[in-house]
Amino acid sequence: MGAPELDVAAVRAMFPALGLSVHGRPLAYLDSASTTQKPKVVLDALVRGYETACANVHRGVHALSVAATEGYEGARANVARFLGGSPDEVVFTRGTTEAINLVAESYGRAHVRAGDRVLVSGLEHHSNLVPWFRLCQAVGAHLDVLPIDEAGALELERLDARLTPRTRVVAVSHVSNALGTVAPVAEIAARARAAGAVTVVDGAQAAPHLPLDVRKLGCDFYAFSGHKAYAPTGVGALWGRAELLDAMPPWQGGGEMIASVAFDAITYADPPHRFEAGTPDIFGAMALGAALEWLSGLDRAAVARHEAALLAHAEGLLDALPGVRRVGRAPERAAVLSFVVEGLHPHDVGTILDLEGVAVRTGHHCAEPAMTRLGLEGGTVRASFAPYNTFEEVERMVQGVLRAQEVLTR
Ligand code: PMP
Repeated sequence: MGAPELDVAAVRAMFPALGLSVHGRPLAYLDSASTTQKPKVVLDALVRGYETACANVHRGVHALSVAATEGYEGARANVARFLGGSPDEVVFTRGTTEAINLVAESYGRAHVRAGDRVLVSGLEHHSNLVPWFRLCQAVGAHLDVLPIDEAGALELERLDARLTPRTRVVAVSHVSNALGTVAPVAEIAARARAAGAVTVVDGAQAAPHLPLDVRKLGCDFYAFSGHKAYAPTGVGALWGRAELLDAMPPWQGGGEMIASVAFDAITYADPPHRFEAGTPDIFGAMALGAALEWLSGLDRAAVARHEAALLAHAEGLLDALPGVRRVGRAPERAAVLSFVVEGLHPHDVGTILDLEGVAVRTGHHCAEPAMTRLGLEGGTVRASFAPYNTFEEVERMVQGVLRAQEVLTR
């Protein structure tokens, strides 16, 4: 007997938005790498927070404030469980972007000096590149790049040469949003550590697809966004190794992040609160906790098999279309399919697909250097998959591509 199949119809029924029509067609949402749709349990958790525990956290003695604080700190425990860390190592942020900026501005400013080096991969989303570029510029450090090959895989054979005695930080995405490449993060982190550098992992695209264990990965920081993992927008998390967070200065200052304040001396709270200045997204965090519980409650192996089957189906159909070229053929890929259609701009293909009710992302996917490396200045069309997607939706996308070829090359 084979492993149990994912009950896709049951999963779909949990997502109110999947019943929408777009331009008179049923929505085929193939843009989950941009943001996932949200299951009802997550939306309910968000509303329940506002309806039953709407108060500020950490400062009130009254019952609602206690409920808000318990919900918020409970969500931190959920995130910690999801990542394999401890709650004190989990900082709530607005998302991946803010998490990486926090590491660059706090850890980076404290440890990266003039003449030091920061290594990023050639695959990075701008959010794991721009903060490092800015840090290097500000302190006079060098930004090095671990290049990618034609297939969109990291050129690991060049890693040792890029890990110099002055390399302080290695910043790498676990899964590329543009090409789907899965990076061997455990190996990179081990080699970085041996060279004396810390590893910062952008897990925005990995969190929804891969089982995570930051200790097994051996990285030092791990960032992800709630909204790509079935939670609301505006909340995400940074996991940081306890001993690193303990020694890091605050980034933003304000309420919530202090122990005591006078005009001549301020002491800061311990992590994680030291890094959470101001009122956080309390109910978003609770909904994130609910989303991670929901995701962990699915048969994740079955989800991974379903997503791989959707990817394989789409690849097979697209490969049979003349004039369509898939981009990103690294040996290990997750739930993302990028392609270009000869003679057509990706935005035009995306617009025709939209008219068919099929939502895909087009452009450079905030990974311009990777697109430039592959000679794709106009970017690509990107379909991305989630457990609620069906083979029929994939077929509708492929039909839409055919239609785009018909309409746009007439
Ligand atoms: N990294 C990757 C790989 C991403 O796909 C994204 C979102 N497209 C980000 C970082 C940025 O995430 P956010 O905008 O939620 O901060």
